[in-house]
Amino acid sequence: MYTGTLFIISAPSGAGKSSLIRAYLAQTGHHPAKVSISHTTRKPRPGEKQGEHYYFVDNQEFESLIKQNAFVEYAHVFDHYYGTSKKEIERSLQQGINVFLDIDWQGAQQVRQQMPESKSIFILPPSLKELENRLIKRGQDDAQVISKRMHKAQSEISHYNEYDYIIVNDDFDESLTALNAIMITASLEQSKQTTSHQQLLADLLTPKYE
Ligand code: 5GP
Repeated sequence: MYTGTLFIISAPSGAGKSSLIRAYLAQTGHHPAKVSISHTTRKPRPGEKQGEHYYFVDNQEFESLIKQNAFVEYAHVFDHYYGTSKKEIERSLQQGINVFLDIDWQGAQQVRQQMPESKSIFILPPSLKELENRLIKRGQDDAQVISKRMHKAQSEISHYNEYDYIIVNDDFDESLTALNAIMITASLEQSKQTTSHQQLLADLLTPKYE
């Protein structure tokens, strides 16, 4: 049992998943946490940096990592490979750091099977119209890509019921409060507390009284 918890977060593009995670991490006083950096074969968007947003690799390198069994999960999304390396998450979890996996439903299914103690969160947009507006405002993709992403959004959303927690991201601050509540609740689970407070529990249970 790791002291850190693995949090799978999925959402259609534009639901606000990355902003929520970023805002969570920017708060002071939260439990140590980080976002796992995935490998992908897609090209960097303007402003995206190697090793910060993704490890950008080519098909050949990705397929060689698959053969080496380096991924806890991987999937084909929008015609590109995306995957989470085992090394990347295990070290952090062992150190008691919570890890966010920003991955799609296919990856979530694989991680749940391999790490059943993980928690999963699905972020829903308040409406399809709002989702489309957010994608247009983001200005990172052209019209054709946006229409493809909207089509994919509905198939991603159809998997919402496989997740432990649902956040409808209408009001950003309320969504952040909800995310904090989930993180705190997960850390209070008996199995986690047993791992985090081994010494305290041993002391409390040492027979001292008649
Ligand atoms: P984007 O290209 O917009 O960064 O991400 C597209 C989709 O790929 C998102 O739904 C995102 O959650 C998913 N994704 C990113 N990294 C991974 C990963 O390592 N594994 C899986 N399965 N999906 C990922």
